[in-house]
Amino acid sequence: MKGRDCPECTRLWRDYQHATTVHIHLCGKQRIAELQYDHNRAAAIRESVEEAEEERDGAREAIRQHEVEVHGVAPETTCE
Ligand SMILES: [Zn+2]
Repeated sequence: MKGRDCPECTRLWRDYQHATTVHIHLCGKQRIAELQYDHNRAAAIRESVEEAEEERDGAREAIRQHEVEVHGVAPETTCE
């Protein structure tokens, strides 16, 4: 894989990993609240889950852009 030694890649991947960890953690908390029929708590956590999701997607997008701009990786075309 390209960019392994790139400090910016390392930083971006660390951000992404952190955002993913936070997201998984919050999803777990939301699920526990739902299992306990604690709907108010589940709804409150869901907002945090959505924020964490946006952060994670943003971090993933930052990696993608960086790879394209700095490392000349072709943009993903997996949806076609
Ligand atoms: Zn890089």
